[in-house]
Amino acid sequence: MKTLHLLLLGFLVTSVLAPSCKEDEDVVDCDAYHWGYEGEEDDDTWLNCYADCDGQSQSPIDIAGSSPDAALAALETHYEAVPIELINNGHTVEFEYEAGSVLKLNGVDFTLAQFHFHTESEHTIIGTHYPMEVHLVHKNAAGDLAVVGVMFEEGAENAFLKNFSDHLPASKDDHYSSSTLVNAGDLLPPVGAYYTYSGSLTTPPCSEIVTWFVMKTPVQASSTQIQNMHAITHDNNRSVQGANGRAIKEYN
Ligand SMILES: [Zn+2]
Repeated sequence: MKTLHLLLLGFLVTSVLAPSCKEDEDVVDCDAYHWGYEGEEDDDTWLNCYADCDGQSQSPIDIAGSSPDAALAALETHYEAVPIELINNGHTVEFEYEAGSVLKLNGVDFTLAQFHFHTESEHTIIGTHYPMEVHLVHKNAAGDLAVVGVMFEEGAENAFLKNFSDHLPASKDDHYSSSTLVNAGDLLPPVGAYYTYSGSLTTPPCSEIVTWFVMKTPVQASSTQIQNMHAITHDNNRSVQGANGRAIKEYN
C-alpha cells in the first residue's frame, strides 16, 4: 500500500508541475504574429510583441473626471473637399485623405492623413460605449499625431457617410474610389466642445505620441449604416486602458 501511495503522490506532483513546462511552448513568435481583436490575436496578446502597448499612457480610456480648461480653444480645421478613397486594411475601413487639409494646434499644422472606423466606440464616456467611433488622424512634421474622435449614436441617416456607405470595401485589401468630393468637416458635430488628453495609438505599436480630442457631442447615423460598418469591421475596439492619473481636460 505504501508503494502505491508514493506512486500516486509522484503522479500528482508531476501533474501539478506539468502546466509550467507547457508555458514554454506558448512563447509567441513575433515574426509570425498578426495582431487582431479576437482569440490568440486579441489585445491581451499585443503586449507580447509590442512593448509600448504595456505603457502608462495608453488609449483608449474611459473619459471621466474631466475638468474645464480656459486655456483651450476651439479646434481650427482647414479641410479641403477630396475624392473618396477607401481601403479595407484588415483591421478597419480607412479613408485615405488627399494631402492639403490641416488641423492647426498652437500655430502648428497637423495634416489630415486618414480617418477610420471602430465598432463599437473605443473611448467610453463615463463608462458608456457608443456603437461607432471615427478617428481623424493628423500628423505634424515632427511625426506627432493629433487624433480627433467622433462618437456616433443611432438615429437619422448620416449624409456624409451616405456618400460611400453603400460601397464599403468588405474584405482585406478591397478598395473603393470615387471622384465625388467630400469634406471631412461634414463628419464633425456642429458643437465644438471636446475632451482632450495625452495618449497613444489604439493599435500596435501603441506609440504614445497622440494628443487626443474626443468630441463631446455625438453625431447620428442610421442603424443600417452602423450595422453595415460593423458587419465589415466587427468588434475592432481595443479594451479601455488605465488613465494612470492623466488629466482629462474639457473645452466647452
Ligand atoms: Zn482608431
